[in-house]
Amino acid sequence: MSTIAGNLQAVEATIQVACEAAARPRSTVQLLAVSKTFPAEAVLEAAACGQRAFGENYLQEGVDKIAAVAKALPDTPLEWHFIGPIQSNKTRPIATHFDWVHTVERLKIAQRLSEQRPPERGPLNICLQVNISGEATKSGVHPSELLALAREVAKLPNLRLRGLMAIPEAEDDPALQRMPFARLRALAQDIVKDGIFVDTLSMGMSGDMRAAILEGASIVRVGSAIFGARHYE
Ligand SMILES: *Cc1c(COP(=O)(O)O)cnc(C)c1O
Repeated sequence: MSTIAGNLQAVEATIQVACEAAARPRSTVQLLAVSKTFPAEAVLEAAACGQRAFGENYLQEGVDKIAAVAKALPDTPLEWHFIGPIQSNKTRPIATHFDWVHTVERLKIAQRLSEQRPPERGPLNICLQVNISGEATKSGVHPSELLALAREVAKLPNLRLRGLMAIPEAEDDPALQRMPFARLRALAQDIVKDGIFVDTLSMGMSGDMRAAILEGASIVRVGSAIFGARHYE
């Protein structure tokens, strides 16, 4: 068995154990395989094991990989999620080539994605990135501004607001890992109470997916536990 196949089995086992501990059906958690920095061949290997959803952070790398994989697997529909920082002048290729965007933090970006979404592709699925750990990272909308942003994004015609995403500060203690995830879940509940439909919590990575699932994650974004350590150029 290849390394990626074995890693996928191990990640699947971790997800199953966490779902059992949380008394959640396995079907309520989607595994997003984060393939950034890895070649199209790695995606093909994971796809051969049945993995269908992939996440990319860097636009050009992602667009090239989507094309290469589509050429190699013309009959296998895959789902591509953009999970990297978004520059406002680079929204068109994101709106064109991806099925989901997890990193919307400003209305202007959402408006551009909506305007630029090709109609034949249907609505683009959106998660709002929330700055859940405060000062540690500057990415994401501040929790106090989240509801106002959600109300506006929910109105945009070619987007479908699905939920919230967060990247908490790295933390080794499993009990402490759960706290920011619990906060994100509470913020999503506030949005639902406001009458806005959301069904997605994109939270948890290789090091904290169990804690995220215990707090209600519906998408875990897992890179190194599947593809190995990343080496940046
Ligand atoms: C790289 C990345 C991941 C995957 O991280 P791992 O620790 O390798 O699992 C998940 N989410 C985002 C936003 C990332 O940039």
